Amino acid sequence: MSRDVHVVQLYPRDMNIYGDYGNALTLQRRLEWYGYEPVIHSYNPGDAFPEQADILIGGGGRDSGQDRIQTDLLGIGDRLHRLAEDDVPMLMICGLYQLFGHYFETREGARIPGIGLLDVTTYGTDRRLIGNIVTESEEFGRIVGYENHSGQTWLGRDAQPLATVTSGAGNNDQDAHEGARHRNVLASYLHGSLLPKNPAIADFLIGTAVRRKYGAELGAVDHPSVETLTQRAREAAVARPR
Ligand code: GLN
Repeated sequence: MSRDVHVVQLYPRDMNIYGDYGNALTLQRRLEWYGYEPVIHSYNPGDAFPEQADILIGGGGRDSGQDRIQTDLLGIGDRLHRLAEDDVPMLMICGLYQLFGHYFETREGARIPGIGLLDVTTYGTDRRLIGNIVTESEEFGRIVGYENHSGQTWLGRDAQPLATVTSGAGNNDQDAHEGARHRNVLASYLHGSLLPKNPAIADFLIGTAVRRKYGAELGAVDHPSVETLTQRAREAAVARPR
C-alpha cells in the first residue's frame, strides 16, 4: 500500500524567488526515493486550504509580493499556529520567514503584519545583504546557500537561531544569527534552492512527517550517486566567493 505525504507550498505565485520551488521538487524526489507517494499542493490567496498538510514550505518574494499575500496569510494564521503546535514540520524562506514573525516594517515605515508564529521582527534597511552564505548548525551541520534581502531580522527571547553564520550576513549585519526555529518550524534566509544542497534539512522535514503520520523511521536514501553529486555541489558552493 502506498503511503502518501502531503506537501503544501504556501503562495508559490507571489513567494517563489531564486529557485525556492526547488525545495518542493527536492521533497518530492526524496519522498519517492524513501518509498512514499508525494502529493504537492500549491496554496495561493483565496484557495481552500488542503485537508492534509504533512509538510509546509514557503519561499521568498519581493516586498510587493509580501503585500499581496498578507491578508490571506493572516486569515490562515490560526491554522498555521495549530499545525506548528501539533509539531508539523515546516520550512519558511526569506519573505515568508519574515511574515512568520511579528511584522516586517519596510524602509518607508509601512508595517506588514505577520502571524507571530516566530518571535522575530524585521526592519527594511538601505543595505542589501546579498551573496553566497555558509552557516553551521548543531543539528544540521554546515548549511550552504545564497541570500538576498534588505530586511534585517532580530530574534526575540522566545526564538532560537537556526544556525551561526561563518561567511555572509544571515538575519542581520550584526549578530551572526541565521534563521530561526520554533518546534519543527525552520526559517531561513537561504535560497539556492536550499534543500538540494542541504539534504539533512530535507530529511529532517521528511523524517519528522513520516514519524508523525506513520510512526516510521527513514532508512538510507536509495540513490547514492545523488548523494555524491550533492556533496560536490556543497563543496563548490563553499569554495565560491561571496
Ligand atoms: N522583501 C524582503 C527583503 O528584501 C524579502 C526578500 C526575499 O524574499 N528575497 O528583505
